[in-house]
Amino acid sequence: MTLFWAKLIWGLGLIGWFAIRQPHARRSRRTPKVTRDDPVRDRALLALPLIGMSLIPGIYVLTGEPRFADYPFQPALAWAGAVTFALSLWLFYRTHKELGRNWSVTLEIREQHALVTSGVYRYVRHPMYTAFWLWALAQALLLPNWIAGLSGLVGFGILFFLRIRHEEELMIEAFGEEYRRYMARTSRILPGIY
Ligand code: SAH
Repeated sequence: MTLFWAKLIWGLGLIGWFAIRQPHARRSRRTPKVTRDDPVRDRALLALPLIGMSLIPGIYVLTGEPRFADYPFQPALAWAGAVTFALSLWLFYRTHKELGRNWSVTLEIREQHALVTSGVYRYVRHPMYTAFWLWALAQALLLPNWIAGLSGLVGFGILFFLRIRHEEELMIEAFGEEYRRYMARTSRILPGIY
């Protein structure tokens, strides 16, 4: 593994994620919604992962900047990053398939919204966010630069912690006891841990 390959794997991961999401994004725009959380806040927060997981690492991959934040490349870390990215994409694929029409970029409840609690949703209640965490971790392992490597964990991390309570409140509003029971028997993103 060389730095060139590590950067290429990061780029291919981004393209892979886009390819998995695209058909769902198109369908999502056509599915009617009944409740939204706070569309302006939700949209604004999406800038964080966009900057931290695409823009900053994208500039680094294409130009090598910001060079002052470089540290020596370690192939073993990059290999771990490649495996983590693959795991993340697999989980993205599964969560999109299982959420189906209930998925949306921002926090929304749809007409005929069904609560999904099977498949990977049996083990954690936010597996798509687990997939994002894995992607951000993969980025940190693949890119030997303190800023470009860690910007994903910071960008997604802020979004996650600002969003998660709102999302669970929205789900309780929509599903009541059923969601509370689901919360009681599942972890958020890591089975048995958090
Ligand atoms: N937090 C989930 C889903 C992210 S997509 C995950 O990480 O897998 C965000 C949308 O999914 C929200 O608008 C919410 O309405 C919907 N959602 C979240 N959990 C759900 C579930 N268990 N079943 C159905 N829809 C869900």
